[in-house]
Amino acid sequence: MKTSPESRPLYPQRPEGKWHNRRVVFSIVIIALLFVTPFVRMDGQPLVLLNVLERKIILFGIFIGPQDYWLFGLTMLSFFVFIVLFTTVFGRLWCGWACPQTVFMEMVFRKIEYAIEGDAGKQKLLDKAPWTSEKVLKKGLKYTIFLIISFAIANLLLAYVLGTDELYKIISEPIEDHIGLFSGIVIFTGVFYWNFAWLREQACTVVCPYGRLQSVLLDRNSINVAYDHGRGEPRGKLHKGSDRTEGDCINCFQCVAVCPTGIDIRNGTQMECVNCTACIDACDAIMEKVGFDRGLIRYTSENVIERKTAKVITPRTWGYAAVLLLLWSALGFVVATRTDTQTTLFRAPGSRYIENSDGTISNLYTFKIFNKTNHIIKPSLHLDSPHGKLLFAGSPDLTLEAAGMSEGTVFVIIPKSELKSRKTVLKLSVSQGNQQLETFETTFIAPEE
Ligand code: SF4
Ligand code: SF4
Repeated sequence: MKTSPESRPLYPQRPEGKWHNRRVVFSIVIIALLFVTPFVRMDGQPLVLLNVLERKIILFGIFIGPQDYWLFGLTMLSFFVFIVLFTTVFGRLWCGWACPQTVFMEMVFRKIEYAIEGDAGKQKLLDKAPWTSEKVLKKGLKYTIFLIISFAIANLLLAYVLGTDELYKIISEPIEDHIGLFSGIVIFTGVFYWNFAWLREQACTVVCPYGRLQSVLLDRNSINVAYDHGRGEPRGKLHKGSDRTEGDCINCFQCVAVCPTGIDIRNGTQMECVNCTACIDACDAIMEKVGFDRGLIRYTSENVIERKTAKVITPRTWGYAAVLLLLWSALGFVVATRTDTQTTLFRAPGSRYIENSDGTISNLYTFKIFNKTNHIIKPSLHLDSPHGKLLFAGSPDLTLEAAGMSEGTVFVIIPKSELKSRKTVLKLSVSQGNQQLETFETTFIAPEE
C-alpha cells in the first residue's frame, strides 16, 4: 500500500512500545541540542554557523570563509562520503532517529495532534464531522499551536544561518530596520507550517533527495526495519483452537495502521520507509498477545532474513571507509596548515624595476590580504629576506573585517648589494603584533649585471 494523493491525509495510529519510548528520549536530546547549539560560543564565536548566503560557515569553532575553497570542498565531500558509508551500513537510521523533519513531525506536531484530536479513528471522525463549535475549537487550537512552533523553528533556522546576535537584533530593534530578514522569518514560518500541517510524510517520500537515493545506497547487508517474510509467510488469520499451518503473520494490519508514511512493510524495503520503528512496536505487541516470538518485524538485513548471514563490513564498506579516511586525513592537513590570512602579492602589471640614485632597486607590487577568520585582524606586512624595505603607496588602512579583504600597492626596495641575480626570491610575512600569521614568497626583478 503506497501513499497516493487520494489516500491523504493519513491517519497513523498512535505508536507505543519499547522502540517508540527510546525514540522519545532520543528526540528530546536532539531537540534540546538543536535549540541550544546556536547559543554555544567558542573563543567568542558561535560553535556552529551555517551562513550559506555569505558562505561563512563555522563548524565546531573552525571558520570556513569564502577563501577556504579547499576546506569547504573537502568538508562537503567528506560529509557526502560519510553519509554514503553510514547509510550503506545502518540504512535509514538517520531518518528515523535524528532527522529534524521526522523528529519534529512525529514527536512534536503529531503528539500535539493526538493530544487535541485523539487517536487515528477520532481524527478521521472529526475531519468528516460538520463544523461544530467543538471542531472549530479543536482545529483552531491545533493549528494555532502549529503556527507558534513553526515560528519558533523559523527563528531557530535563522539563528543557525545568521547567528543569535543578528537574530536578537531583528527581534529587539524596530521591524522596519530589518524588513528583509523579518520577511524571511514570516516566509519560513509559513513554509514550516505548510510542511508540518499539510506536506508531512511527503517531505520524506517525495521531496527529500536522501530518501530517493536509498535504492543506490542500500545493499542486501544494510540494516533496516524489515519484515521477516521467511517466518511470517504465508500470512493468515489466527483461528483459536485449530493447528496453525501458516506463518507467524496473522494479517492484523497493525504494522500498516501505525505507519506514518502509509506503507506495508511486508512488501519489502521501500523508499517510503523512514525506519521510524512504529511497525516493530505494533507487531511485537501483537506477537506477544498471540504468544509468538517478538521480532517478526525488526532491525535486520535482507541477507540475514534470506540467507541467515550477517555481514556488516563488506568490501563496499571497506572501500567507502578508505576513501573517507583519505578525505579526513586531507582535511586534517588543511586545517593544521591553515593560516589566518591569505595574501596575494604580484608585480604591478606593466611596471619595470626602478634604479634609485641611492644604490637601491625598487619593484612595484599590488597586494590583497584576505581575512580567513571571523574576527577583526590588524595585519602588518614585512619583508623578511633579503634585507630591504617596504614603502606603501599612501597610508593604507590594512584593518581586516571578519572574512574581509584589504588591498593596496607597495614598493619593495632592496640594495643592489643584496641582489645576486636578475631574479631574486623575496620572503615576506604577515603579522599581527608579535604573532606571525602567514609567510609567502614572490620574485623581485633587478637589472642584469
Ligand atoms: S503487525 Fe505483524 S502480524 Fe500484524 S500484519 Fe503486520 S507483520 Fe503481520
Ligand atoms: S514501514 Fe515501519 S519503519 Fe517504515 S515508516 Fe512505516 S512504520 Fe515506520
